[in-house]
Amino acid sequence: MLQVDGLEGRVSVVTGASRGIGRAIAVALRENGSRVAAVDLEAPAHDGILGLTCDVTDPDSVDAAFAAVERELGTVSVLVVNAGIYPISPFEETSVELWRRTLDVNLTGGFLCCKRALPAMRSQGYGRIVTIGSSAGKAGGARSVAAYAASKAGLMTMTKSIANEYAAHGITANSLAPALIDTEMISGMKDLVSRIPVGRFGTPEEVGALVCFLASAHAGYITGEVTDINGGFLVD
Ligand code: NDP
Repeated sequence: MLQVDGLEGRVSVVTGASRGIGRAIAVALRENGSRVAAVDLEAPAHDGILGLTCDVTDPDSVDAAFAAVERELGTVSVLVVNAGIYPISPFEETSVELWRRTLDVNLTGGFLCCKRALPAMRSQGYGRIVTIGSSAGKAGGARSVAAYAASKAGLMTMTKSIANEYAAHGITANSLAPALIDTEMISGMKDLVSRIPVGRFGTPEEVGALVCFLASAHAGYITGEVTDINGGFLVD
């Protein structure tokens, strides 16, 4: 486990954290001494972590979850925007409903969570936002995922805008652009291992370590950055 400074006692919120990458991020933050809330459509149940129900597409649900975190744990210093869906659909078969739903979860969900978290971060003069983008948001995706790719490009760019606007308030905002991390989301993509230069999928724990670093005291001079974590799958 990566041990970093600056997370002890700080309150973190991780969205979409019942399983996969979100779960590993929440556990890594907790192991570094953060007081962690994990939110998801169904409240996650992880040891030593506050589990809350939250649909990130619903402003009232987001507000209620943050209010519960503030009540139970205190002011939020670290927000990890991780909740996401990955619908595979050929472009011409993509319905407007699927397009809108994908942008709603992956992009608007991130907007709503950041909007809810930022005022308190600004008041305390400190905050760390990490959004989980995707290599698909840079390169369009290895499958037919136009809506997903567009949503992740939007999320990564929104994060840069936050970085620009809030740097003077002690708040950093960075994105990750992962590819092929071994979770349920990519269970149908085993054929792609042969295209990963390091020869294997990434692990959720490797993503958790990188998020901890970006959320730590060591990373105060890093903001507006998109960090690849992809085993060389996309070198750009
Ligand atoms: P998972 O599908 O395992 O986890 C996604 C989580 O998000 C699920 O727990 C899901 O809940 C939750 N979620 C979905 N919709 C909502 C919503 N409206 N409100 C709250 N939570 C929601 O995926 P991964 O762990 O693999 O992915 C995590 C993030 O990393 C995603 O944003 C994904 O796009 C990104 N990513 C993943 C890559 C990979 O290779 N795995 C590569 C690049 C990016 P439920 O289980 O109830 O559906």
